[in-house]
Amino acid sequence: MAIKIFIDQGHNPTGYHNTGASWYGLDEQDITFQVGIYLAEMLNKDPRFEARLSRPVPTTVLGTNNSTSLVERVKLANAWPANYFISIHANASLNTAINGTEVYVYKLYTQSNWLAEQVLDGVVETVGTKNNGVIARPSLYVLQKTKMPAILVELAYMSNPSDSMKLRDDQYQFAQGIYTGIMRYFGFSQ
Ligand SMILES: [Zn+2]
Repeated sequence: MAIKIFIDQGHNPTGYHNTGASWYGLDEQDITFQVGIYLAEMLNKDPRFEARLSRPVPTTVLGTNNSTSLVERVKLANAWPANYFISIHANASLNTAINGTEVYVYKLYTQSNWLAEQVLDGVVETVGTKNNGVIARPSLYVLQKTKMPAILVELAYMSNPSDSMKLRDDQYQFAQGIYTGIMRYFGFSQ
């Protein structure tokens, strides 16, 4: 049986509720959408995996406000049911010097933590971002309410000029980094 991975592309399309951050002409929701599409393609090419996306097409809108948008994502993953949940976001800070990749989990020293470590290392190696570590964020709804190991990847900082260029130009590589991490977590060769 294939390992079922639910890929949650953070936020909704431009013009709707629950849209993401905007910096230097880039919109978070567009970055997360495309990285998710690439990652699903990589996983679905491999018969050991089956991937589903929260936003399979660019026009997908989840929920009717910020909170029901998150509820909808969790419901889709739990109802499938997915074996693993990977939410994709891009970070931002008012301090534009802050940069790098971090991965959030509900709790440290769990399967989510081990998957997060591999995904973080995969992204950092592939894209060349700074390693900001795996961080426990029990308050994040999608990590709290999913019934399977779940991680939230903050690819890089949209607010940092150098990271922003990577987020614009290296979307395939970000997906490749996550894919590499998933493969290593399962001990599969690429
Ligand atoms: Zn976000």
